[in-house]
Amino acid sequence: MTTKEHPKLTLKLAIASGKGGTGKTTVAVNLFHFMSKNYSFKTQLIDCDVEEPNDLLFLQDCELESEDISTQLIPFIDNDKCTYCRKCVSYCEFNAIVVIPPVEFAEVNPSLCHSCGACIVACEDGAISEHPAEIGKIRSYKNDQGGFLTEGRLKIGSAMQTMLIKDTKQHAHEDVDVIIFDAPPGTSCPVVETVADADYVILVTEPTPFGLYDLKLTVEMLREIQKPFGVIINKAGIGDQKVHAFLSNQKIELLGEIPYSKSYASKYATGDILNNINIDTEIQYKAIIRKLMARYTQDEGDYNFKR
Ligand code: SF4
Ligand code: SF4
Repeated sequence: MTTKEHPKLTLKLAIASGKGGTGKTTVAVNLFHFMSKNYSFKTQLIDCDVEEPNDLLFLQDCELESEDISTQLIPFIDNDKCTYCRKCVSYCEFNAIVVIPPVEFAEVNPSLCHSCGACIVACEDGAISEHPAEIGKIRSYKNDQGGFLTEGRLKIGSAMQTMLIKDTKQHAHEDVDVIIFDAPPGTSCPVVETVADADYVILVTEPTPFGLYDLKLTVEMLREIQKPFGVIINKAGIGDQKVHAFLSNQKIELLGEIPYSKSYASKYATGDILNNINIDTEIQYKAIIRKLMARYTQDEGDYNFKR
């Protein structure tokens, strides 16, 4: 145990994986729980998997603090002013506007609109005005240990994942020391938006051919956007050694390995994954936290461990 005060910092970590089912949520939730339970610094988990946020399911000690509605501005065409010139149609890169002059029809499809505002600029007849429309909800919770959980939840039918993720990330608390972004699976725009301002990305994979295939895609994406990253191998012990060989060949940092456990899999199925991590996994988490805190605070990482 140490009494040393850690310097003020906001370390931003993102937890990502090339595909679902690798244990990304398990790592994000456990890392958050482990940090807020055992360390003196304040931690916030931001669930950016807005199509299917499920971190809250595993954090049963969380209490709702606030709820916000996230909106986008959707253009509305006033048929009394519209001259059906179709200029707005040619400005819209997302094919969200339909204008049929012979039948004097003009309409915006909200599910395709990206709220770029180009059609407003295009229209010289003042026929377009903007109105807010809900894309999802952002809820913030506090847990028993003083940690915060924030989740974005996309409205059914909305395609604005990236916009909602951006908005959800704006709900970071000012006084937290560590923020963990739980990214959606894959390598598409919502993932890039989630990891964009992270200091470090923790990739979670499994030692199987599918795990390796998706890991390679994610590594490619992170290298393209020049983001530092390391890998946690979940379910270690199953599959083969090809993921290890890939990491070693590519000189990618292996942060830790979480052994496969049948009992853990059944606990996950009932939402009971906290306080049940085994000692090996606890040691791994502690080592990872120590390593990252040391690296990003220029310190040896010996922070106020509560016990
Ligand atoms: S705001 Fe942009 S995306 Fe939406 S309808 Fe206008 S031009 Fe298209
Ligand atoms: S640019 Fe304006 S006037 Fe022309 S079709 Fe679009 S909404 Fe109508």
